[in-house]
Amino acid sequence: MADQRVAIVTGAARGIGAATAKRLAADGFAVAVLDLDEANCADTVKAIEAEGGKALAVGVNVSEREAVEAAVERVANELGAPTVLVNNAGITKDNMLFKMTDGDWDAVIAVHLKGHFLMTQATQKYMTQAKYGRIINLSSTSALGNRGQANYSTAKAGVQGFTKTVAIELGKYGITCNAIAPGFIETEMTAATAARVGISMEDFKNAAASMIPVARVGQPEDIAHTVSFLASEGSGFVSGQIIYVAGGPKD
Ligand code: NAP
Repeated sequence: MADQRVAIVTGAARGIGAATAKRLAADGFAVAVLDLDEANCADTVKAIEAEGGKALAVGVNVSEREAVEAAVERVANELGAPTVLVNNAGITKDNMLFKMTDGDWDAVIAVHLKGHFLMTQATQKYMTQAKYGRIINLSSTSALGNRGQANYSTAKAGVQGFTKTVAIELGKYGITCNAIAPGFIETEMTAATAARVGISMEDFKNAAASMIPVARVGQPEDIAHTVSFLASEGSGFVSGQIIYVAGGPKD
């Protein structure tokens, strides 16, 4: 299909990114599946192709300018000009403030903040040319503050400011920019947190669910569904918003 729209999803080898890539492919997008290691993208690409979709695996570290520029150019050459970008790649390096190292701080800020900046900068030129675009960033309820996550909550609060500014700068080109702030989503990231605090994933999930109004933890598909809405043509008057997807109100 010559005019198939192209979406880029970072951190799409697993978790929320993989579910999002599959959902956007089901919505009709050709999907660039980006992650640190190209080989790790194979499962997501195969799942998309098995459903008749089109996908391309690309290895990239989103915090490295040259790699990002090369990756986005490759997507444009091999799939077509990208007009949807989902900045999803992320890491945690949790520690209480008094124990947090420079390395813990720098790594988290680099992947989330520099990653969002570089990926958005490299992709917006295709969107401004097309006079159409949808940029969807991954923040977190941790932006509101979370024990043991001074680095991560700072990065996720920064993503919200970045989102609003990009929405203001690029709006006149038909480009929207919004952020999704998930609560507890069952992925390897939350499994790693359970392991760090020394409880089983089942107990961790039950404790979280007991404090969530809809009485369950989230699944990657809950976030993919929200991305699908924000990536759709019909969402063109929604921009600069932070949507908490957490099973209850947050602010
Ligand atoms: P995940 O399961 O840990 O997956 C993250 C993916 O990002 C991994 O495949 C990882 O690759 C990749 N990645 C890490 N650093 C990268 C880099 N520099 N360049 C490219 N790819 C990189 O995480 P998740 O739970 O799906 O989370 C996805 C996003 O949602 C993150 O931004 C996270 O902060 C946010 N979020 C998650 C939750 C939650 O409860 N799970 C809640 C709020 C927000 P490797 O496997 O090679 O490291």
